Amino acid sequence: MARTFQACQATASESPSSFSSFLLAGVCYIRLTDPELICRKPDDDQMKPFERLTTDLHIHTISSGHAFSTVNEIALEASNKGLELIGLADHGPALPGAPQRFFFVCLGFIPETLHGVRVLRGVEANIIGKGGVDLSDTILKQLDFALAGFHDYCGYAGTDVDENTQALITVMRNPLVRGITHPGNPKFPIDHIAVLKEAAKTGTAIEINNASFVSSRKGSVENCREIAALCSRYDVPVMINSDAHIAQTVGELDAALQVVREAGVEWEQVVNRSMESTLQFLGLEH
Ligand SMILES: [Zn+2]
Ligand SMILES: [Zn+2]
Repeated sequence: MARTFQACQATASESPSSFSSFLLAGVCYIRLTDPELICRKPDDDQMKPFERLTTDLHIHTISSGHAFSTVNEIALEASNKGLELIGLADHGPALPGAPQRFFFVCLGFIPETLHGVRVLRGVEANIIGKGGVDLSDTILKQLDFALAGFHDYCGYAGTDVDENTQALITVMRNPLVRGITHPGNPKFPIDHIAVLKEAAKTGTAIEINNASFVSSRKGSVENCREIAALCSRYDVPVMINSDAHIAQTVGELDAALQVVREAGVEWEQVVNRSMESTLQFLGLEH
């Protein structure tokens, strides 16, 4: 199923908007829209070989209160795009409009496979206080996976780089939290080196979030490039996710994939590169 990823050779200064992607027979191709890039010959000697990602672990359903598709619509879209596995990651209860604790207990109602796509039941927990998350360990243990990240309006108490960094380090020391979402968000500045060293120590995945390049968290790009480079330097597990809030953007990963590849991250470091690697990273059964 895995095919060679035909990535274009955009450089660090080029915007991800200079290319778009399309799917043909289940394979993701890049369509270059900038004539300058079309003329440039890819230098594959300097780029590690990457393949097509077949999972997306950060997807919001209508239950988040600010997203627009159902589980069924999302799974159907994932199936049409040839994904093997998706992760439902609705926000934890501290975000206004997000589902309450009992919702997460009930995720077991969702079939393990929908439209031929494996569906994992997870959460994007909100970091609260000085480094807690907004679901108890008792509930987190019942889920397939938990991600956590900084969000506005959730009762997070930190105000500066030191407090944000300490909060992330505290969250990463919770072994039930397997990934940190969009750490490049400039609204919550962190000490990149301290956070990445702790991620390496705890084995927590650092997410490079596609939406940060195309629709959300303006100003994230340079932070994400630096974080991806540090993932490479410190051999930190990486997740590449869409952060889709509507079915049509499920599996849109190209901009993040390009940044990760340019940063020198090894393909084997990308924990959600396939269903098999994802399940292995999360300690789940095939
Ligand atoms: Zn988020
Ligand atoms: Zn999200």
